Amino acid sequence: MKLFLGIDIGASGFKYGIGDSKHGLQHFATKRIGEKSMDAFRRIAQEILDEAEAWDILGIGIGSPGTISQPEGRILGKNPNLPFFSDLCPGDLIPGHLDLPVFVENDANLMALAESALRDCKLCVGITVGSGIGCGIVQNGDVFHGAHGFAAELGHSIVYPEGELCSCGQKGCVEAYSSVDGIRRRLHNMGSSYAGMALPNLIALRNRIPELDEVLLEGEDTLIRALANLCTVLDPDILILGGGAMDLNMYNATRIEEEVIKLLPEALAKQIRCCIAGYGNRAGVMGGIMLCERKLR
Ligand SMILES: [Zn+2]
Repeated sequence: MKLFLGIDIGASGFKYGIGDSKHGLQHFATKRIGEKSMDAFRRIAQEILDEAEAWDILGIGIGSPGTISQPEGRILGKNPNLPFFSDLCPGDLIPGHLDLPVFVENDANLMALAESALRDCKLCVGITVGSGIGCGIVQNGDVFHGAHGFAAELGHSIVYPEGELCSCGQKGCVEAYSSVDGIRRRLHNMGSSYAGMALPNLIALRNRIPELDEVLLEGEDTLIRALANLCTVLDPDILILGGGAMDLNMYNATRIEEEVIKLLPEALAKQIRCCIAGYGNRAGVMGGIMLCERKLR
């Protein structure tokens, strides 16, 4: 069976899998990032490739944080959550002598691509909540890149003028309030002792610690406002919520849907649905595989 390798590079680990869209994933695993450096990334990529030798691989699809130029597959500008992983081609992690086609796409775009294939939809928006806030738009099965590849940067839309400083250098971005790193930064700036706590513990404690609940609720409300504005502009069929923090139920998807709908014009409000990523934390990997399949079709 001819299969594809999907690799989803995140701030804390590489998720990867082998499969195709017809048979699904035949293999899925994660490698945690210890040291954050290019040498460490190359070592992890090589370990994944060694493992993949057991299958007949036709091509590789890589999801990476950051804005990716197309068709070059280069990360443009700063990559705030992985600063050393900027202005380079993630595809270069794959040695050229393997002679395999490699395609690179923004990680949230790949999540949206995989999730759109699970549903009957014309316009699908995927949002990933993790270290940052990712967003991908898929229209009629194709990723929407905008004129220069910068489309769908929902995390860096500004919701509070002169608000919290964001990792991108602007102030008041959605990411500064709604991402895990943003929430930690806010807690740190408040002098909270919970800023460095593991995320599952932090979420579990929110019912007992008002300062945690307040910051998390403000993160959810900020995301709701941004999503409602996005829906008003785009008129999507569906909003799909994924990413590591959604897997841990940091935000309540049912409440997000109810509150987004309240902020929409009436005719539009009847059309919008909101749901959790069907592929869960495997959506980026599955999107990498689907991207590869489409490019090689
Ligand atoms: Zn920003």
